[in-house]
Amino acid sequence: MTRAFYHDHPDITELESRIIKAKPGAVLFEATPFFPGGGGQLTDRGTVSVADQSYQVTGIESDADDYWHLIDQDIELDGMASLRVDSEFRNLMCELHTLAHIANAIVFQNFGNPLLTGAQLSDNGTLRLDFDLPGADNAKLRALEPEFNDAIKSGLEVSQQYMPWDEANAIDGMFRSKTVAPPRLKDGMVRIVDIAGLDQQACGGTHLVSTDQSRPVKILKVENKGRQNRRLRLGIDDS
Ligand SMILES: [Zn+2]
Repeated sequence: MTRAFYHDHPDITELESRIIKAKPGAVLFEATPFFPGGGGQLTDRGTVSVADQSYQVTGIESDADDYWHLIDQDIELDGMASLRVDSEFRNLMCELHTLAHIANAIVFQNFGNPLLTGAQLSDNGTLRLDFDLPGADNAKLRALEPEFNDAIKSGLEVSQQYMPWDEANAIDGMFRSKTVAPPRLKDGMVRIVDIAGLDQQACGGTHLVSTDQSRPVKILKVENKGRQNRRLRLGIDDS
């Protein structure tokens, strides 16, 4: 993979593509708008249609640089297909993922640059972030909620750029996870996601283009996970 379709064309959720390989219940496309999952973001949901028959995409399995789309029937497809990502689900993932960056950035800046030890978005409009933060005062973490919402309301532009992976790795805080490194693309680059004036970090997911496209967020819970980790549970505040 050099550049992913969902990075270059985040707004395109429907695409006609040729099937280049297939096996029963799994299909490989020349191009796909589906996000395959990763970094705590869930795999896109949606359908594949061939000759007026529609199949649910039940998952995506990566095999080297191939992304096999698993379908809900044990048949072997060929020819041209219409791929359609569930855009409501994608939008929710973009919103939660952007909130994850905002919260991550503000905790990073206020608590001495802790790295993430885990992150997971959920289809119920919540997410959790685990930080390597031994000894942190949970009440102080909880008190960051207004800062998260100020960043949302400020309408900060969210953009992407590419940087040599090794160069990014040498910059403190550009790789924000303690446990997983972001993907090195075939051309040796890594994707950097920038929230104007707030944060820059390597990331392969999908995001909103401005922070004010997000609804407000609330901190649902701050928990200790072992001696080392603090878990923040966040949820979209629809009230
Ligand atoms: Zn991201």
